[in-house]
Amino acid sequence: MREALVRGLRALGLPEDCAPRLERYGELLLKKNEVMNLTAITAPEDVARLHFLDSLALLNLTDFSGKSLVDVGTGAGFPGLPLRICRPDIRLTLLDSLGKRITFLQEVCDALDLEDVTCVHGRAEEFASAHRESFDLAASRAVASLPMLCELCLPLVRPGGAFLAMKSVDCAQELSAAAKAIKVLGGEVEEVRDYEVPGAGVTHRLISIRKVCSTPPKYPRAFAKIKKAPL
Ligand code: SAM
Repeated sequence: MREALVRGLRALGLPEDCAPRLERYGELLLKKNEVMNLTAITAPEDVARLHFLDSLALLNLTDFSGKSLVDVGTGAGFPGLPLRICRPDIRLTLLDSLGKRITFLQEVCDALDLEDVTCVHGRAEEFASAHRESFDLAASRAVASLPMLCELCLPLVRPGGAFLAMKSVDCAQELSAAAKAIKVLGGEVEEVRDYEVPGAGVTHRLISIRKVCSTPPKYPRAFAKIKKAPL
């Protein structure tokens, strides 16, 4: 894993000194994965590339300096935790509806002395009632289709901030289906950029949605409604 990490960090132009901490996180992930479902990716070098480096590629696409970031549906910590490990100035909140995954993430934060990371067990649509428009950035990978995801994430972003949706390159239809949701929720597509995941031979896509005005108070709706009738 170390070699894949070091090569990938170099390819991304990021300092190599975060490799040992990423590797420790990877070891904890694979060990816990033996007793609970955290990831289908189990080869250490694939964890390095498809989880860590995929997450870290965002550092070259968005300005994270001193920003607050909520990772919605973080699962085993992606993309938020690798970003925070390599960029201590990010004020990170990890949010997931599965308590066991949040317990695991708290253990990783304790093991790596990441004292200021907030790990929250909760649903994004409920978390929004107390944390509405309070983050500079929201990010999410592999959680829901873009129209649904916008309703889960955009209410959490302050006007002027941005929602970063990590998608595959075949998401054009999803993006057009989300046009209404983005507008209604106060967003505007700012940038769509493809990026290569170092060493993995795959290209992924980052959709950056700028929050241009406040989200109307009636959003987000209850999850059953979001799912039944996406905006
Ligand atoms: N983002 C991680 C990644 O890319 O590896 C995890 C993806 S996993 C497929 C989706 C995660 O989203 C699960 O851990 C699930 O519990 C969480 N999730 C789904 N709906 C959610 C919601 N409404 N609020 C918070 N978390 C949610």
